[in-house]
Amino acid sequence: MRTPIIAGNWKMFTVVEEAKALVLALKDLVKDVTNVEVVVCPPFISLLAVKDVLAGSRIGLGAQNVYWEKNGAFTGEISAPMLKSVGCTYVIIGHSERRTYFGETDETVNKRVFAALSEGLKPIVCVGETLEERESGQTFDVIKRQIVGGLANLSVEQMASVVIAYEPVWAIGTGKTATPAQAQEVHAFIRKLLNDIFGQTTAEATRIQYGGSVKPDNATELMSQPDIDGALVGGASLKADSFEKIIKF
Ligand code: PEP
Repeated sequence: MRTPIIAGNWKMFTVVEEAKALVLALKDLVKDVTNVEVVVCPPFISLLAVKDVLAGSRIGLGAQNVYWEKNGAFTGEISAPMLKSVGCTYVIIGHSERRTYFGETDETVNKRVFAALSEGLKPIVCVGETLEERESGQTFDVIKRQIVGGLANLSVEQMASVVIAYEPVWAIGTGKTATPAQAQEVHAFIRKLLNDIFGQTTAEATRIQYGGSVKPDNATELMSQPDIDGALVGGASLKADSFEKIIKF
């Protein structure tokens, strides 16, 4: 039985005071939730403040990216030991916005995954096809390339800490959600790939989130698909009440 995981990707929204207020409201709204793992991923600058507000709650803390070196002359980057030091347990890796705007590749995703794991952080590895790729029939090829490349050389033990997020790029921030059937089809494909690479036990245990315009009114139907184990939520995680409704799908 896989415990659903619902993570909020706040992207580049909220200054520190707004981040604190958002998580304070959320903490109260979801204080009785025990059957879903909840994670918030604020911008780097708010991680420490959010961690303080989260004291005593079950909500986990995640970052939105991590660099693969531990330290050094890499101006502007943040390493896995730094994330760990502020209380992160999760880190989003390979989000499509990072692939599109910041040159992220399957190879750099893989380096970041290893860096996160080496500090005990759990990677949320994002994969997903663009509209052009879907319309030209390349969805499964793209997902396969991203999964095989992003998770290359991971052991079964390491894979136990990894969460996958299937996020069709055409559904992110667009208001267009994949239909539950479209999402389920890709999730089942990912699980089959995991089975081929890591074996059945790992494939059945790995949580695969759906992401892309998840809202309170479509969360239940998406999450009731057999291979969808939660959601990675952007826009709707920036309001405590809409995120709460998704968490309580
Ligand atoms: C995301 O940022 O991962 C995301 C899915 O965004 P949205 O929910 O706004 O589409």
